Amino acid sequence: MSQRRTSFFDTNIEYIRGLGPTKAELLNKELSLFTYRDFIEYYPFRHEDRTQFHRISELNEAMFAAQIKGRLRSWERIGEGSKERLVAQFTDGTGIMELTWFQGITFMEKSLRLQGDYIVYGKPALFGSKWQITHPEMDILTPENERGGYFQPVYSLTEKLRKRYIDSKQISRWMKTLLEQALPYIRETLPHSLVQKFRLISKQEAIYHIHLPINAEALKQARRRLKFEELFYNQFRLIKQKLIRREDYAGQIFTKTQLLTEFYQHHLPFDLTNAQKRVIREIFQDLRSGKQMNRLLQGDVGSGKTIVAFITMLLAIDNGAQACLMAPTEILSDQHYTNLKRFADLIGIQIAELTGSVGKKARRNIDAGLQDGSLNILVGTHALLEDHVQFNNLGLCIIDEQHRFGVAQRAKLWEKNPNFRPHILVMTATPIPRTLAMTLYGDLDISIIDELPSGRKPIKTIHRYDSDRLRVFEFLRTEILKGRQVYIVYPLIEESETLSIKNLMDGYESIARAFPEYALSIVHGKMGWKEKDYEMQRFKNKETQILVATTVIEVGVDVPNASVMLIENANRFGLSQLHQLRGRVGRGAEQSYCILMTDYKLSKETRTRIETMVRTNNGFEISEVDLSLRGPGDMAGTQQSGMLDLKVADLAKDGEILKYARESAVEILENDPDLQSPDNAPIRSHIEHLRNNETNWSRIS
Ligand code: ADP
Ligand code: MG
Repeated sequence: MSQRRTSFFDTNIEYIRGLGPTKAELLNKELSLFTYRDFIEYYPFRHEDRTQFHRISELNEAMFAAQIKGRLRSWERIGEGSKERLVAQFTDGTGIMELTWFQGITFMEKSLRLQGDYIVYGKPALFGSKWQITHPEMDILTPENERGGYFQPVYSLTEKLRKRYIDSKQISRWMKTLLEQALPYIRETLPHSLVQKFRLISKQEAIYHIHLPINAEALKQARRRLKFEELFYNQFRLIKQKLIRREDYAGQIFTKTQLLTEFYQHHLPFDLTNAQKRVIREIFQDLRSGKQMNRLLQGDVGSGKTIVAFITMLLAIDNGAQACLMAPTEILSDQHYTNLKRFADLIGIQIAELTGSVGKKARRNIDAGLQDGSLNILVGTHALLEDHVQFNNLGLCIIDEQHRFGVAQRAKLWEKNPNFRPHILVMTATPIPRTLAMTLYGDLDISIIDELPSGRKPIKTIHRYDSDRLRVFEFLRTEILKGRQVYIVYPLIEESETLSIKNLMDGYESIARAFPEYALSIVHGKMGWKEKDYEMQRFKNKETQILVATTVIEVGVDVPNASVMLIENANRFGLSQLHQLRGRVGRGAEQSYCILMTDYKLSKETRTRIETMVRTNNGFEISEVDLSLRGPGDMAGTQQSGMLDLKVADLAKDGEILKYARESAVEILENDPDLQSPDNAPIRSHIEHLRNNETNWSRIS
C-alpha cells in the first residue's frame, strides 16, 4: 500500500466500525495490530471451505469438518458437576444429530433459540449410531448466509482474545468493513508489465481475496500475487544493495602470484577438484576486478573449502595484504587454525589465532605482528572485531558462519582497513537450499563446490532398530579388526544436561561391557577442554578404538581412520545435524559407514528424515528436504538473521515464484536502474513507502 507517510492506512484500528478503543487496545497488546495497515496485512493462515452444505445422512468420519443447515429441536443438561454438559438435538430432515457443549453451558442455553434455523459447523464424530459435533460454531440462518458459498478465513489468535469473543469470525467481520472502505486507497505496487507478464491479479483484488475469497481459485490467485510481490521486493532490495556496493566500493587489486605459484608447484598436497578450480577462478576474477568482493562459498561437508580459503589468502598475501578468518565458535576457530597452519607452515607464512581465551601477552604479540605486517593470517572468533585488533593492511576477510553475522559486525570488519574495504568471502558450514541462499544471501555472488574429492567412497548409511543391536555390535567388531575406528554418538537431551550425561554414561557402560577387549574414549559437553583434548588425542593416536560422545564431535574432528559413525536415538537429531555427523567419517580411502539406530516407533517426519539419510549423501538435497520438513524459520542460520520476515511466501514451496521474482528484479535494475520509466513508477513509490516503514530498506537510497 504505497502511500504518503500519514495516510488512511495509518489510522488507528479503533476507528474500524464496531471495534472501539477497548478491543483496539487488546489487539495492540495481543497481536501488535495498531493501524489499518497492520490490520489489513494480518493475513489468515488458512481458510475453511464453507461453500458446501452437508447432509446428516451423508456424514462420514473422514470429514475434517462439516457444515449443516437445519433446525434446533430441543436441548437438555446431562450429568453433574464437572461432567455436566449441554446436549441439543439438531435435524436437517435427512437425520438427527447431537450438538454438545462442555463449556459455556449457561451462556449457550440463554442464546440458543428453540426451533431456530441454524448453520452449524464443526468436526463430526460418531458416538454409537449417532453423529455428534462438540462445540460447534452456530450461526442463525439468514437469507444472506443461506446460500453458503464463502470461505471462512482463519486467523492466528490468542487465548485472551478468544475469551473476549474475538474469534476469526469477528476479525473477518471487521476486515470486511475495513476493506470495503479501504479498497479505493489501495494502489498497485507492481509495474503493469509484470502484472501482465505473469498474469497476476491486481493488488486491490489480491488484498480482498486473501481475506475474503469468493472461491478457491480467487484465494489461490490472491496468494500467488502477494507472494510474487513479496519476493520481488525482497530480491529487489538485495540486488540493489549488491549494485550499490559494486559501484561505491573499490577493492584492492591482487595480481601478483609468486607465492601462489610456489605453493602450487611444491606444496599442493593433492590435485584440486574441478569444482575447487572453478570456484578459485571465480574468486580470483573478483580480486582482480578493482571492486570489493562479496562472495558466498557453498560446499558440502568434506568438499574441501579450507584449501580454497587458503589459496585465496595466499593471493592476498602475495600482494602485500593480510587476511583474517572469523568463525562463530572457538572449536571451529581452533579447527580452522590447525588446518590452515599446516598449509601456512609448508610455505612459511605467519599465522596466529585470536579468541577470548588468548592471554594478554600473546595478544600483545599478535597486535604487534598485525600492525607491522609481519603476521599474515589471523584466525579467530568475534574477538577479531575488538578495537585493539588493527591491521597493517587487511585485504581479505573470510567469514565462516553457521549463523549469519550481523551487518553491524561485518561493518566492523570493513572498517579495519580505512583505505579499501577488505574483500569478503563468506563460507557456509552446511549447504543451504537454493531458495534460502537466494533470500538470505541474495546480495552476494555465489560460488558452489558441487563435487567431492575423487577416490572417496560414498558413505553407506544404514537404518537399524534397537533390536538389531547385537548384529550391529558384531559389525563394529569386524571393522575394528580391520584396523578401523568407530564413533558412537548420543543425542543431547535438550531439557536436561544431567539426563544427557546419564544417557551417555549408560551407553558407555554397555559398550564397555560389549567390547571388553578394546579401549574407549569419552567426550561430552561437561568436560573441560583439556580433558576433552586428551581423550580426542588418544583416539587420534589410535590408542582407543571407539569414541563415545555427545554431539560435541559434530565439528572440529578429523580422524581419517575412523570409518564407522553409529548414531544412537537417531530420531532425536535434525537432518542437517545427522548429515554433519556423518561427514565425520568417509575422510579416508576406506569404505565408511553410518548406522542410524532407532526404536520401532517413529513419527512420519522422523521416518522421512531417516529415509533421506539412507537415500542420499548429497548435502544440498538433504537441506531441501530439511526445509520442506521444518520450514525456513527453524533452519540453522535463519533465526538470528531477521531476514526472513516473509508473510505469505513459503521458501519450501515457492521456489518457482522466487526465481521469476528475482529474474524480474534483475531485469528491471539492469534496464532502468533509477526507475525513470513510467511503467516502474509503482516500484518507485512503493520503495518510498518501504523505506519509511521497514528497517531493511532504510539503508537503500
Ligand atoms: P570442508 O569443505 O568440510 O571444510 P575440508 O576443507 O576440511 O572440507 O576438506 C576435507 C578433507 O578433504 C580434508 O582432509 C582435506 O585435506 C581433503 N581435501 C580437500 N580437497 C581435496 C582434494 N582436491 N583432493 C583430496 N583431498 C582433499
Ligand atoms: Mg571446513
